[in-house]
Amino acid sequence: NKKIVLKNYVTGSPTEADMEVVATATAPSKLLEGSAAGSILVKNLYLSCDPYMRGRMSRPCSYIDEFVLGEAMVGFGVSKVVDSSHPEFRAGDYVWGMTGWEEYSLIEDPKKFFPIRHPDLPLSYYTGLLGMAGLTAYVGFYDFCSPKAGERVFVSAAAGAVGQLVGQFAKLMGCYVVGSAGSDEKVNLLREKFGFDDAFNYKNEEDLNLALKRCFPDGIDIYFDNVGGATLDAALLNMRLRGRVAACGMISQMNLPEKLDPLHNLISVIPKRVRVEGFLVFDHFHRYAEFEETVAGYVREGKIAYVEDVVEGLERAPAALVGLFAGRNVGKQVVVVDRE
Ligand code: NDP
Repeated sequence: NKKIVLKNYVTGSPTEADMEVVATATAPSKLLEGSAAGSILVKNLYLSCDPYMRGRMSRPCSYIDEFVLGEAMVGFGVSKVVDSSHPEFRAGDYVWGMTGWEEYSLIEDPKKFFPIRHPDLPLSYYTGLLGMAGLTAYVGFYDFCSPKAGERVFVSAAAGAVGQLVGQFAKLMGCYVVGSAGSDEKVNLLREKFGFDDAFNYKNEEDLNLALKRCFPDGIDIYFDNVGGATLDAALLNMRLRGRVAACGMISQMNLPEKLDPLHNLISVIPKRVRVEGFLVFDHFHRYAEFEETVAGYVREGKIAYVEDVVEGLERAPAALVGLFAGRNVGKQVVVVDRE
């Protein structure tokens, strides 16, 4: 059973060398032997690379336990049940949820898994579009941005897993949507594939405030923040009266070894009565069933496009995870362990 383990806790930017591939001699079929009643054995098919995993690579991690050194890392994934002593799971079932970064995992609490209700759609979609990232975009936009048709929406890391969906939900609602991303290829994707009204490559802009003034001459109603730092600071300066900022993620700050970047423009939220609200998707899984039906419907009706960046092979998972912090992923980063 091959697995990816964390070798040491990380400060600063993670590298591939912080992780390693380890092979254990235990045959997968033996894993269920002696396990607690109600356990299941799954074969992991698709793994999700997510920025929050960076937090678990350091000690202490703020809102979730850190990874255990030498044990398989864990993350969201799509798996197939191969053996089960739980009455609600049968060999052959497809599920998604928190699993190990390994070929086979023994799951002692299978109730934490979700069934795959739309097996006609690509299974990998449950690592992103129909999984945690999709739910993040859904609750983040609809619940935390209080959007209305015609409003002006800015999304950062807009070509990523969450960003591409937020922008498209906003377009479906009839908003004017601009995205920022870190390459011209991603900017083209935003315009051509995801239907954003406008987009810019933030790496080519000398002054992010001017870039936002150019895209939003009348200001921003909603800023969906995936990056924090200088982009958030520039957005704060351009918010309209009673604007909303959904603080989803601050990936630009995650690897800073010491102080975070200063925010100079926070004070402007007072006269403009801007609401800045953070949220964690983990508080909102009770919305999952509604979200899954709605978004699966959007996909079938062709209302939503979805781009994944797929790498083949468990051993490529460390590079894929690290790549998120260099913007190497174009779309949702997925690792294929096996296709069935
Ligand atoms: P993405 O698919 O968007 O991948 C991360 C992207 O972030 C990269 O592709 C890169 O795109 C961008 N990025 C990396 N480093 C920087 C930097 N220094 N400055 C600006 N942009 C950078 O990831 P997700 O869609 O999975 O996650 C997006 C955000 O949402 C993250 O901040 C994540 O932590 C957050 N999140 C929050 C959740 C919550 O519950 N609140 C749940 C899930 C995600 P580019 O080339 O455009 O720079």
